[in-house]
Amino acid sequence: MSLVLIAEDEEALLEVFSEVVEDLGHRVVRAHNGEEALLLARTEPPDLVVSDHMMPRRTGMQLLHAMRSEPVLAEVPFLLLSAARPSGREAAQTFLAKPVDLSTFEQAVSTALQSRTAPRHESPQAARESATAVSLAREEMLNWVAHELKTPLSSARLNTQLLLRKVHKRGAEDERRSAEAILRQLDRMNGLVTSILDASRLADGKLELKQELKELGPFLQDLIHDWREMQPEMDFHLDLGEPMEPLLLDAERVRQVLNNLLSNAVKYSGESRRIEVGVTLNPGLVLIHVRDHGVGIPANALPHIFERFQRADADRGRGHGLGLFIAAALARLHGGSLSARSTLGEGSTFILRLPRRS
Ligand code: ADP
Repeated sequence: MSLVLIAEDEEALLEVFSEVVEDLGHRVVRAHNGEEALLLARTEPPDLVVSDHMMPRRTGMQLLHAMRSEPVLAEVPFLLLSAARPSGREAAQTFLAKPVDLSTFEQAVSTALQSRTAPRHESPQAARESATAVSLAREEMLNWVAHELKTPLSSARLNTQLLLRKVHKRGAEDERRSAEAILRQLDRMNGLVTSILDASRLADGKLELKQELKELGPFLQDLIHDWREMQPEMDFHLDLGEPMEPLLLDAERVRQVLNNLLSNAVKYSGESRRIEVGVTLNPGLVLIHVRDHGVGIPANALPHIFERFQRADADRGRGHGLGLFIAAALARLHGGSLSARSTLGEGSTFILRLPRRS
């Protein structure tokens, strides 16, 4: 049994995190702000600190820096949780974005405790952001929005996941369905909050790509494999075309773009089940198309679907009209583009163009 100090100012989240860690067989000390956490850590040095970032009287990052400067506490593993992405978060051993999944959280706690004696490889003096006063204020406001909305969502999702686990054990079918429905709605709300934040960051030019060399073939195969599992009733076809060299891209963000195109292809598939994803090579460019044979987009709406909050048909579908705006902006950030062709009643083809390395 290890001692885990949990610092979280939201009472509901503090309770659910504590319950999860206690269920893993550890002893928990609870702190409601960063200052209290530091005092408690000095009183009885924990084996792990799990801390929110945005807390009163000392943020999670300030708590981390204070601990790193005290010899007794300097080596204690630190799991930082935050809806925002505070700069310097690399100094924490683990960073988890809120809302966090139950199993991801459990895994992170167990891994951090196992590596109790392993040396940390990141220096605490991580990169400092240089930003103007105006953009800082805006960033702060965004962080505040994310925090305010994501924290209660996080707590609701974790509680629902715990509830689902209990209901699964008891085998109560009705309750299981209700809990799953709640979880789906919470996931939609969370998706919307994430989209709003992404859209604002993109509009501000504040979203940075984490590019790496990636083989497109296996990447697309994994993606389509996931979609086949998620939507077994749809018929996904993948045509990878000719072999090609690895691409320099932010895999998470390209996955986000393609997920958006695929989820639209499913949403607006009408009677047709067939969705095709294909790759074509041009000199200097790779073209990835996502084609459906669904409802299509009216010609007068087509030029506007990449604008913020635009939906071709307000009554149809259940989206919020941010997905394509974000997808197109992410494509441009990669030095590429996103375009669409569509015929009403026949289907749509979206084409993502990404640069190849010369
Ligand atoms: P939403 O969340 O509303 O789906 P998007 O930005 O992803 O937002 O899409 C904007 C609008 O474009 C949608 O509301 C829909 O009217 C139209 N659209 C997008 N993809 C398709 C598609 N594959 N088939 C038909 N209409 C589409």
